[in-house]
Amino acid sequence: MPSDLLLRLQRDRDLPDRDWTTLLREGAPNLAALADQKRRAVYGNKVFIRGLIEFTNICKNDCLYCGIRRSNGTVTRYRLEEGQILSCCQKGYELGFRTFVLQGGEDAFWTDEKLCALVSRIKSAHPDCAVTLSVGERSRESYRALQNAGADRYLLRHETADNAHYRRLHPPAMDPKNRKRCLWDLKELGYQVGAGMMVGAPFQTVENLIADLRFLRELAPEMIGVGPFIHAPGTPLASYPDGSVALTLRLLSILRLLFPRVLLPATTALGTLSPEGQMDGLRAGANVLMPNLSPPLAKENYMLYENKRTEGTEEGKNLALLKKKVAAAGYRIVTDIGNAAGWEEKGQ
Ligand code: SAM
Repeated sequence: MPSDLLLRLQRDRDLPDRDWTTLLREGAPNLAALADQKRRAVYGNKVFIRGLIEFTNICKNDCLYCGIRRSNGTVTRYRLEEGQILSCCQKGYELGFRTFVLQGGEDAFWTDEKLCALVSRIKSAHPDCAVTLSVGERSRESYRALQNAGADRYLLRHETADNAHYRRLHPPAMDPKNRKRCLWDLKELGYQVGAGMMVGAPFQTVENLIADLRFLRELAPEMIGVGPFIHAPGTPLASYPDGSVALTLRLLSILRLLFPRVLLPATTALGTLSPEGQMDGLRAGANVLMPNLSPPLAKENYMLYENKRTEGTEEGKNLALLKKKVAAAGYRIVTDIGNAAGWEEKGQ
C-alpha cells in the first residue's frame, strides 16, 4: 500500500516543502516498487538504449565541477572527425542502436553549418534513427537550424534551478537565465527536451532539489537526466564529496511518479559510484541506458569526473553482456527509436 505521502505526490504532483524534505531525506515505504509499477504500466519491461558519441572535449566554458572545463590543463583535447562519428553510428546501428547522442563541450569549431551537415548525414544514413544533441547553450536560430537538419532531441541539464546555487557552480560569464531560455526555446521549437541536475552537487541543499523538481514540473521535459555529482581532479570543486547513490535512486523514483512517461536514464555516473547502480536505477524507475560508442581516444579523454567507467557494459560493443545483465534484473533491452510514450500521437 503506498503511503499517504506517495498518494498525495501522485495526486497533486507537488508537496508542501516539509513533506518534500522528508521524502527526499528518508524516502517512503514502497517508493521504488511503486515507481517500477508506474514505469511498467507505461513502458512495460522495455529499456531503451542510446549510443553515446562524445565527439569533442574542447569547451569554452569553465564550469567549476566539470573535468573538461576550459581551465583544466591536464586534459588531452580531441575532436572527432566527421568520418569517425559516422563510423561510430554505423557500428552502433549494426549493434541495434536506434538513437545516437552527440555530446560534447561547447566547441566553436562546430558551427551551425558543420553541425547541421553532420546531423543531416547521420539522418540520411539512418533515417529510422533519432539524433539527440547535447552541445550546450546556443541561439534559438541555431536550435532551429539543427532541428531542420534532422535533430530530434536535445539534452541540456538545467544543473540547478536556483540562481544563487547556479552561480556558485559556474563562472560569472555563465548565466542561469540563458540556460533556462535555451530549454524553453528547445521546447517551443518542438524538440524532445531533456533537463536535469547533478545529485549532491557542491553546496546543494534540499531546498535546491525541491526547486529543481518544481522547475521540471513547469518545463515538463520528455527526458530527465539525474546522476550523482562525482569529484573531478583538476577542478576547483575536486575536494567536494561525491553525491549519494541512495538519494539519486530516490530521485529517480520520485521523478517516475511525477512524470510517468518521462525518458529517464540510469546514468553512467550512477554506475561509476556503485557496480549495481545502473540496474538499481532501472529497478527504481529508470528506463534508458546510454552505452558509449566513442572510439578509445575519446572515451579516455572525455573524463567529466574521476574513474568514469569506460569498460564492460558501459561500452556499446559489449551490448550482449549488458542485455544479459538487464534481463537478470527483470527488464529487456529493445531495438527501438525509443521516443517518449505518446510522442508520435502528439503529431510531432
Ligand atoms: N556541453 C554540454 C552541456 O553543457 O550540456 C554537454 C556536456 S556536459 C559535460 C554534460 C553534463 O555532464 C553536464 O550537464 C553535467 O551535469 C555533467 N557533469 C559534468 N561534470 C560532472 C561531474 N563532475 N559529476 C557528474 N556530472 C558531471
